[in-house]
Amino acid sequence: MRSQDGLGIQGRQRELQERIKRLIIDQRLPPGAALPTESELMERLGVSRNSVREALKALQAMGIVEIRHGFGTYVGAMSLAPMTEGLSFRTVAGHYRGEDSLLQLLQLREAIETGLMARVVAGSRERSAELSALVAQMREEAAEGEVRAETDRAFHAALYAGLGNGLLSEVLDAFWDAFHRVRTDLAEPLQDPMTTWRQHAEILAALEAGDAHRAEQAVRRHFDNVRERLRSTAPEVSTQTPHFDDASVTSVSPIPPQRS
Ligand SMILES: [Zn+2]
Repeated sequence: MRSQDGLGIQGRQRELQERIKRLIIDQRLPPGAALPTESELMERLGVSRNSVREALKALQAMGIVEIRHGFGTYVGAMSLAPMTEGLSFRTVAGHYRGEDSLLQLLQLREAIETGLMARVVAGSRERSAELSALVAQMREEAAEGEVRAETDRAFHAALYAGLGNGLLSEVLDAFWDAFHRVRTDLAEPLQDPMTTWRQHAEILAALEAGDAHRAEQAVRRHFDNVRERLRSTAPEVSTQTPHFDDASVTSVSPIPPQRS
């Protein structure tokens, strides 16, 4: 059905969502700030309560607003969680259709991480102690048989945190999440934990030597290794049951996180 303004119901909903987003921008509302009440929005935007509610629900699904029942509506955290969700789902669905979706995601991470190494090396001096501590911790964990994924993640996060680009850190975090939330046959064979430690120690050594080229090579070798493990489980149209390591999707037992 088309109204006089020529927009269908969906078009009008979409337009309403845009107007609410515009209101957040115009009023410079930060995450966590309260939005005008439902009644105020109805009056200001000249639409029905139902339309306002529907628009807010759609914006909540995108993480743009947060509806706290009984309290009101607030500007959302604007996190990349919805992107991570979509990326994880797309990757696992693609993998089980026989596409090399995990490899593609890995290539994306590799391109970004290696591409940044020159700048990381230039500004890594003040993070050297933190990175050293993480590498030492990896060594201890490796001696005990397994480098924890959290330690690995903390190392990569510390590398790029020095660049002071919040968006970059969040995007890399989202890629990591998506990659590690996908559980596949990739779980085997696990990398020798001493190799994991050595590869990170080499990245650190290159940083400490201020050698951007060597650092880039070290990161590339680190990714080569993950890639090899991915190749050893080259995708075919799989008949296996896909797993998310997310209890809300399937109630499988806890899945060991992958290292990279
Ligand atoms: Zn790593």
